[in-house]
Amino acid sequence: MIKTNWHTHTNRCGHAVGEDEEYVLAAIQGGLKTLGFSDHAAYEDPYPPERMDISEVPGYFASIRSLQEKYKDRIRICLGMEVEYYPEQWHVLSSYRRELDYLILGQHNVYYDRVSAYAINDGDTLHRYVDMLEAACERNLCDYIAHPDVALYGYQRLDGSVRECAARIADISLKYNMPLELNTGSGVHRGMHKYQDGMRYAYPTRIFFEEFARKHCPIIIGLDVHDPALFLDDTDLNRALSVIADLDCNILEDFDLVEAAKKRKALFR
Ligand SMILES: [Zn+2]
Ligand SMILES: [Zn+2]
Repeated sequence: MIKTNWHTHTNRCGHAVGEDEEYVLAAIQGGLKTLGFSDHAAYEDPYPPERMDISEVPGYFASIRSLQEKYKDRIRICLGMEVEYYPEQWHVLSSYRRELDYLILGQHNVYYDRVSAYAINDGDTLHRYVDMLEAACERNLCDYIAHPDVALYGYQRLDGSVRECAARIADISLKYNMPLELNTGSGVHRGMHKYQDGMRYAYPTRIFFEEFARKHCPIIIGLDVHDPALFLDDTDLNRALSVIADLDCNILEDFDLVEAAKKRKALFR
């Protein structure tokens, strides 16, 4: 198991199990030295779904901060969120940026109220998804890009647009010194799917990492944990690593995202 994980959810999102403290105890048992909580950000409207209500945010902050103190001699706990770039919710995002140790960008919708990243199946929309990632980086909203290839979840043929978008994301990573995540979450946990051009995991996707490796982009492994038991099982990690087998990826081990976030927060407006 890896020693540092910045991508951890809580049951507030509605699709994770276990209490906050169970995540901490499992992470300690699994040998983690740094545990970053990054539950899905809440926004003012009930959309997009599968996230805590905005009224639950203070309780999330208080719970993780108290665990941080309680377990400080055994594990370093950091408090973050997984956010999307939604200009309509900038005031909410700004408050998270100021308050939290770090933010990761997991762009689940292309627009605030429509077009799920899981439903993209054409080049134009895929490019629009990349536009959102770029805008988030340009505005210093995030400290790494979670599952940059999540937009390939429903993409049926890995065509030229996929390679173009992978190259664009690699260039964004280099321009903003932005780490990209190798995600070991549900994209591999659910096994391979049959697409029109063959079998593959929903994500991570090898074409993306071919471009990231070629350009030597910084990569961070993120467990995207929605169940404490997954801190004790390397199956999904090994599946994700099999996708990038033989690629010369620049994987950063034990990268300090909180230190990196301090610099970006100073530039955040
Ligand atoms: Zn989730
Ligand atoms: Zn996540």
